[in-house]
Amino acid sequence: MTTALEVAVETLCEARHVCHEYVMPSGSTLRVLEDINVAIKASEVVALLGPSGSGKSTILRILAGLIKPTEGEVLYRGKRVEGLTPGVGIVFQSFALYPWMTVTENVEVVLRAAGLPESDLHSRAERSIRTVGLAGFEEAYPRELSGGMKQRLGIARALSVNPEILFMDEPFSHVDALTAESLRAEVLDLWAPQDSNPSSILMVSHDIKEVVYMADRIIVLSSHPGRVRTIVQNPLPRPRDQRSPQFDKLVDYLHEIITGAELPDVPLEIRRRESATIQALPPSTTSEIVGLLEYLEAHGGQDEIFEISANVHQEFGRVITVTKAAEIMGFVDTPKQDVVLMPTGWQFVRAGAEERKQIWRTQLLNIKLFRDLYARLQQHPEEPIPADEVKEMIIIALPHENYETMFDTMVRWARFGNLFAYDEDTEKITLE
Ligand code: ADP
Ligand code: MG
Repeated sequence: MTTALEVAVETLCEARHVCHEYVMPSGSTLRVLEDINVAIKASEVVALLGPSGSGKSTILRILAGLIKPTEGEVLYRGKRVEGLTPGVGIVFQSFALYPWMTVTENVEVVLRAAGLPESDLHSRAERSIRTVGLAGFEEAYPRELSGGMKQRLGIARALSVNPEILFMDEPFSHVDALTAESLRAEVLDLWAPQDSNPSSILMVSHDIKEVVYMADRIIVLSSHPGRVRTIVQNPLPRPRDQRSPQFDKLVDYLHEIITGAELPDVPLEIRRRESATIQALPPSTTSEIVGLLEYLEAHGGQDEIFEISANVHQEFGRVITVTKAAEIMGFVDTPKQDVVLMPTGWQFVRAGAEERKQIWRTQLLNIKLFRDLYARLQQHPEEPIPADEVKEMIIIALPHENYETMFDTMVRWARFGNLFAYDEDTEKITLE
C-alpha cells in the first residue's frame, strides 16, 4: 500500500529470481547465486557486502549485462534487458586500463564503443578527465600514474558515458588507504547533485566501514551459494562522520551479522563429525596462520575479531578467512566474536621451527583430505596421485568451492608440514 504522502521512487535496475552457475573446466557446474532479488532505485547508493567468494562481482556483472544469468532476469526501468544494460558505467577493481593508450585515449575508446560520434569523443573525454581531477595528465600513460590516479581514470571512463548508475566493484581495494578515503568522498560529491548523472551508485565491497560511509542501503550476502542474507538501511545523515558513535554502532551491527554467519559457534561433536568428511580449506597461507597465532600469543591468547582486524590493518574478510583456517587446524576456537588460542595453538607458537613443523603435520592428519591422501601415498609410495584426481575429489565433496584455489592451499599447507609435495612438472602429488 502506498499512501498519498509517499512518493513512488523509480526503480532503475533490478534482478529478479537470479540464479547463476559457472561451468568448470571438467564440465561440472558451480552454483554461485541462489534466488537473488535486488533493485537499485533512483538517487540511492546501494552496496553489496559479503565475504570474498559470496558472488558480489557475479551479481554486479549480471546486473550490468556482462554475464547472462543461468536463471532469472534483469530489468532496466521495467524492461527486460538482453545484452548490455543501458545506463550503466562500470569501475573495475583492477582498473582495466589499456597500457598502450594515453589517459585521453583510454576514455575515448569507451565512448567509441558506446557508439558516440567521433567528433564528440575528444571533448567528452576531456570533460570527464577534468571531473576526476586528472587535468594535465591527458597525454600520460597508465604506467606513469599512481594507483589512485589509475582509479581516477577508471572512474573517468565510467562517467564519460554519462551513466544513470555507476557500478563499482571494490574500486578502492588496490588504492592506498588515504587516497581511498578521499576518492570515496569525491565519488559521493559526484553523485550528490539531484539533477545530474549518476543518479545512483551500486558498489561491491567487503569493507564494512566503506559501505557504512557510502551506502543508503546495504545488501548483506551469505556465501555458498550467494544469497541475500539481509538488507540494512543506513539512516546516518551525510556527510558521515566515521568517528561518531552512531557510525560505530552500525559498523558493529554489520560485523555481528557477518561473524554470526561466517564463524558460527558449532558444537564440538558436530565439528568432530565434520572431520569425517572433506572440509573446505579457507584460502590462507601458512604464514598468515602463524601470524595470527603469534598475534594471539602477544595478546594473552585471546582477542575480538574486529580488534584483530583493526590492529593488524587487515580487511575483516581476510581475518575471518585466516581465523577459519586456524580453527580447522585445531589451533583456535571462536566463541562469539572472540578468537581464542587453544592448547595446541599455545604449544605451536611457543615451539621452535622444527617442532612447529611436527605439530603442523600432526594437525594436518586430523583433516580428512590430508589424512586420506597421506594414507594412500604411504601404502603405494611408488604411485604418485595426479592433481586432477585430487581436484575431482574436491569438486565432488565441495561443489561450491573454487577447487583450484583449494588445491593450491592444500599443497601449501602440506609442504609446510613436510607431509607430501606437489611436482608441478608431472602434476602429481608425492611423498617428499
Ligand atoms: P566475490 O566478488 O563475492 O568475491 P565472485 O562473484 O567473484 O565473488 O565469485 C563467486 C564464486 O564464483 C567464487 O566461488 C568464484 O570462485 C566463482 N567464480 C567466479 N568467476 C568464475 C568463473 N568465471 N568461472 C568459474 N567460477 C567462477
Ligand atoms: Mg569480487
